[in-house]
Amino acid sequence: MEEAWIPPNHPRRESLLVRESLVKGFKDGLVAMQGLIAHGRGECFDYLIGETTIPPALEAERAAAAALLAAERPVISVNGNAAALAAKALVELSKTVGAPLEVNLFYRSREREELIAKALMENGADAVLGVGDDAACTIPELFSERRKVSCRGIYAADVVLVPLEDGDRTEALRRMGKTVIAIDLNPLSRTSRAANITVVDNITRALPNITRFAVELKVKPREELAEIVRKFDNDANLRAVLKYIRDRLDELANRGIALELPKPSRREP
Ligand code: ATP
Ligand code: MG
Repeated sequence: MEEAWIPPNHPRRESLLVRESLVKGFKDGLVAMQGLIAHGRGECFDYLIGETTIPPALEAERAAAAALLAAERPVISVNGNAAALAAKALVELSKTVGAPLEVNLFYRSREREELIAKALMENGADAVLGVGDDAACTIPELFSERRKVSCRGIYAADVVLVPLEDGDRTEALRRMGKTVIAIDLNPLSRTSRAANITVVDNITRALPNITRFAVELKVKPREELAEIVRKFDNDANLRAVLKYIRDRLDELANRGIALELPKPSRREP
């Protein structure tokens, strides 16, 4: 096992295990090299929020579940990092809300598309859009390979969930009139600020939370779901995240953060 070197009591074990799955995804060809750097940026913000789901994120996760359930044609966009970190959770959410999975890559190659689709299928997906010739439609005003989308998927969708998205694409999807749900640990990114609903949480925690809310909300009438979405204010939510981080840093700064370490044992001369 790759992770065998991480001792069970290592204080950063969880984070290191997540890193290992990303490195494995890279070695297997799912994750782009740039994806490793993007993950580091995410980790930094996860540290700031305390590596836990904070109250504003929970609220956004509930609104995200409602938006996916209320949608006519919801789609979940999947890139290499998302597949490497959360393939099973993506499939579970897809099945719970009835939203197809679509491969969409910044650094597109036929091989990577197929590897990501395979990883999703191995985790129980029945079908994956956006592979090869299926990505025949174009998102206007986008110049990366991400502009290629499935005509029956993202192109026709009314609600798109984009975990770990780039700002340009989020803005382009909004200009096409779509409701965009982002999962992004950085509350300051353009993606976070351009999306309709931004979940500031690690994808590994966010997806199971959204699925849990979807199971709970599934029984509600569409009007009630739409009301939850209408009441959600993304700007207010992002401000609540920033205040949470500010207050947390303030508290740490006042309390002190140096670790209490055992005194070194006296060396015999
Ligand atoms: P933008 O283009 O939106 O301004 P960016 O250029 O800073 O963002 P990108 O590299 O385009 O960032 O996208 C990666 C984003 O994904 C980053 O904002 C990062 O915080 C976020 N991210 C990385 N790993 C995770 C993760 N595990 N869970 C949630 N978000 C993550
Ligand atoms: Mg970017």
